[in-house]
Order: sequence, then C-alpha cells, then structure tokens
Amino acid sequence: MSPKRFGGWEPVTVTEYEYDSEGRVLRSWSQPETEWDQTQQAWMEALGLYRAGLCPLHGGPIEECTSPEETGTQFEVTRSTCRAQLTLIEAQRAANDGKKPSPYAAARLWTLKTRG
Ligand SMILES: [Zn+2]
Repeated sequence: MSPKRFGGWEPVTVTEYEYDSEGRVLRSWSQPETEWDQTQQAWMEALGLYRAGLCPLHGGPIEECTSPEETGTQFEVTRSTCRAQLTLIEAQRAANDGKKPSPYAAARLWTLKTRG
C-alpha cells in the first residue's frame, strides 16, 4: 500500500470517449490514477536508503557504530527493566509453585494489561 493510499487517497478512474459524426460512441478507454506515482516511488526509495544505513544489530546509523573507535562516535549503555515483562515472568514462576515448569507450560496463554 502506498503512503498516499494509507492516508486515505483513492484512485479516480477517468474514462474518455470518442464519438462518430452521428454522436455514437466509437470507443472508450479508462485509466485509473496511478497509485505508485513518482512521489510515492521516491518515498519508498528514500525509505530503502534510510534503512540501508541502519545497523542490523542496534538499529542506529551504521556509520556511527562502525566508525573508528578513537575518533568516531562514543557510546554509553544504560539499563532499565521492562516491568510489564518482569510481572509476567514473576506470574509464570509463581504458577509453577517453585517447581520445574510443567511440560504443558508452553501451551499456557498469558495476558498482560495495565492496572489503574
Ligand atoms: Zn550497530
């Protein structure tokens, strides 16, 4: 789906007619508007170029993370915890009552939602 269609655009089909001297239709032809016009194609090309410049490991610009360590971009790491996933893990461990997980544990369906 093109960006413009995603934004609500719908193609308009234009039909043209050719008439004879009596006013009868000799032929007609219909042409829907092009969804993938030059602008839409340019958007996709730009997206491809942008994605090609991203590191597949950390998702940032690949020119930064592959730059020389001495002169290039410096990085620092911070750590945080996804409390939603933590709550889920705790609930799953509690369901096992401290025992090894049941062989059926992988079949359980869990739902995670916010409270309050
Ligand atoms: Zn990287």
